[in-house]
Amino acid sequence: MMSVMSLTFGPDRQTREFQCDCCQAPIERAWNFIYADGAAYAVYFANCYHHKDRDHDAWIDVIFGTWGAGSEQWTDHVSFACRVGPVAGQDTPASTLVTAGLAHPDGPLFGTKLDRETALQHPKLSEFWEVSDFILENDPLVRGHVYGR
Ligand SMILES: [Zn+2]
Repeated sequence: MMSVMSLTFGPDRQTREFQCDCCQAPIERAWNFIYADGAAYAVYFANCYHHKDRDHDAWIDVIFGTWGAGSEQWTDHVSFACRVGPVAGQDTPASTLVTAGLAHPDGPLFGTKLDRETALQHPKLSEFWEVSDFILENDPLVRGHVYGR
């Protein structure tokens, strides 16, 4: 049995706004550390899209690995991602696994970027859903974007 972790945000949440490649609408991004039982556990990047002619959705990347030991220790990093937004035939937004790190360069931070098929087989999948639910419920930008401000 996996113990239930106590998740909290790190102290240095950051946000940035930039432009969508497809329609020049604003994209809002939030990123931060997630702590589990007081220790750095994961990093997330959440992009909230305001497309002019497509669904307004959020894409959340979560990176697991060893933190705080310098980049030479980053060989164990692995990243997951999901898209959260409206789906046909459903009243509430749904989360769907997608390829991780699509909007980010390859490198040691993101480590192994899992695609949907590999993520589904990965032992950390349940931890990813736990972290992404925590972000959806508690990051003010993501929560407001997905569930309304
Ligand atoms: Zn767009």
